[in-house]
Amino acid sequence: MRKNIVAGNWKMNNDLPQTEALITDLKNQNQTSHAEVMIAPSFTNLWHAFEALRQNTIEVVAQNMHFAEKGAYTGEVSASMLKSIGVKTVILGHSERRAYFNETDASLAKKVDAALANGLRVIFCFGEELSDRKSGNEEGVVGGQIQNALFHLGADAFKNIVLAYEPVWAIGTGETASPEQAQDMHAFIRKTLADKYGANIADEVSILYGGSVKPNNAKEIFSKPDVDGGLIGGASLNAEDFFAIVNAF
Ligand code: 13P
Repeated sequence: MRKNIVAGNWKMNNDLPQTEALITDLKNQNQTSHAEVMIAPSFTNLWHAFEALRQNTIEVVAQNMHFAEKGAYTGEVSASMLKSIGVKTVILGHSERRAYFNETDASLAKKVDAALANGLRVIFCFGEELSDRKSGNEEGVVGGQIQNALFHLGADAFKNIVLAYEPVWAIGTGETASPEQAQDMHAFIRKTLADKYGANIADEVSILYGGSVKPNNAKEIFSKPDVDGGLIGGASLNAEDFFAIVNAF
């Protein structure tokens, strides 16, 4: 059975004292669901978060990494650096990375390879823009993003890949995909995987939804059969809200 996952993407929020405070709050929450819980602080706070959550089931994950192993890439962080502080999972391909930092399907394919080669699990993000949906091309865009960045991989690689569908028009806008829109796209994503790798592989891959998931809409979205969890932005910055979403499973 595939896993249910709720991951908080903190984006560029929370300095060290704020990270300490939020982690303290998170530790005081009560998890009643079976979902795997993750938080993704900024690079500067990863080590602190990792130490502070050593005895805790909340996993600390990274928001990004470079594809090169090491060398003259000022300002970048490698997979082995993440691994050396205990990070086991990295988010790749977030729409903000694609939009503001020129990440492409081709560079993401290299990042995915580097992460997997280092034994990291990847949360691979993708999603269409509003104009794609308006023109009825959302499946074409999403299918292309998956194919271009992931379809060079062997079936085995998907043991270490989680997919995160995040329609760009729903991120930080307060506008959520309806539970039916999310389900339709997740079913399409799973079929895309099944067509290439077979139903057994496709059924094991967790597909998360991201985009304005809040305590008041999480339950309905998570109730859909192909929605296996959420990638949470704004609502992950408050411990009570985040755990209300975690416990929506
Ligand atoms: P919001 O939940 O703030 O819309 O952000 C979603 C997201 O981008 C998570 O990666």
